Amino acid sequence: MEQPIAVTRQSFDDWMVPVYAPADFILVRGEGSQVWDQQGKSYIDFAGGIAVNALGHAHPVVTAALVEQAGKLWHLGNGYTNEPVLRLAKQLIDATFADKVFFCNSGAEANEAALKLARKRALDKGNSSKNQIVAFNNAFHGRTLFTVSAGGQPKYSKDFAPLPGGITHTPFNDLAAAAEVINDHTCAVIVEPIQGEGGVLPADPAFLQGLRELCDRHDAVLIFDEVQTGMGRTGELYAYTQYGVVPDVLTTAKALGCGFPIGAMLTTDELAKTLGVGTHGTTYGGNPLATAVAGAVFSIINTPEVLDGVKQRHQWFLDGLNKINQQYPIFSEIRGGGLLIGCQLTQDYAGKAKQITQLANEEGVIALIAGPDVVRFTPSLIIPEQDVKEGLARFARAVARICS
Ligand SMILES: *Cc1c(COP(=O)(O)O)cnc(C)c1O
Repeated sequence: MEQPIAVTRQSFDDWMVPVYAPADFILVRGEGSQVWDQQGKSYIDFAGGIAVNALGHAHPVVTAALVEQAGKLWHLGNGYTNEPVLRLAKQLIDATFADKVFFCNSGAEANEAALKLARKRALDKGNSSKNQIVAFNNAFHGRTLFTVSAGGQPKYSKDFAPLPGGITHTPFNDLAAAAEVINDHTCAVIVEPIQGEGGVLPADPAFLQGLRELCDRHDAVLIFDEVQTGMGRTGELYAYTQYGVVPDVLTTAKALGCGFPIGAMLTTDELAKTLGVGTHGTTYGGNPLATAVAGAVFSIINTPEVLDGVKQRHQWFLDGLNKINQQYPIFSEIRGGGLLIGCQLTQDYAGKAKQITQLANEEGVIALIAGPDVVRFTPSLIIPEQDVKEGLARFARAVARICS
């Protein structure tokens, strides 16, 4: 057999479209919440691929589901349905408000489907001027042109104008401002229960409740983007149940496949009728390989052991981070839910989140940022206590270095 091509971090700069600036090492193997680089150095993984690897790396049950399905059937196309996709649909329906599911390959695609559904639903009702979408400052909904326009961070959209129109942004958690723009021309309101990329900012319960009432009053579709908060991340299967506010459409991806690309849009019978045969679709959506993996992931995550374990682990992180912060006061707030935790840096350390995660890498731990001023942790939902302790000890050494 031919020798594999030799690759180093420099190869990235040589061969890749430079939309990313990855760390200066290459990870080659993972097991649970530990990963190793080309040189054999070990890291504790507190990022989980940005809230994706919710069961860590190489989980034996998930790996077995992948291998078993890989030996049977990979892909058919949507002219033929398959068993794993139907089983996964039933699992999601039984565990949520939803009656119907649409599968795709990413969070952005799930949101794209949700926004298209809302526009078409209004049009089908004969209301061609009911096409306005309300979204929130700082939100993140993906990188397609429609979803990047719905997102509330102009730095991600402004270079790609002309952008899809009919989208208005108001401040997150400001119900009065939302009430001013939500009216009978509104077809959809899209919101994250906890803004993830925007800085780990939880919605106020009254805000989501108020959006629900405004959507009911004006017959608008309420879309919860649970791409990051979903699949157990906050300690419940989906965060909407913690808020006691039921959306009309929910989007989920990231942890759904634990690293195998898959996304889904969940909705009600009534709304699902909008997307009739031929109105929307995707080649790979609901492919048997992806849905077999997600089915195994779902069976593990949607259990009291795992979901209660998230709440317990939240406390381990909070205790450890508070202790670090007592010794080196660099955080003004530690917030979030479950294992979606954001640490807001104080004024003195503003803009240093990236530098802190780089030092953390040197100390052997992988953490994330959520904007320039927030360090974010989204580890495996089943990370062992020993790995939490060791990872926080390594993180503390990185914090000590930034403070010295
Ligand atoms: C990551 C994310 C997305 C985009 O998902 P992709 O799979 O990258 O397309 C959308 N919404 C939220 C809240 C996210 O965190």
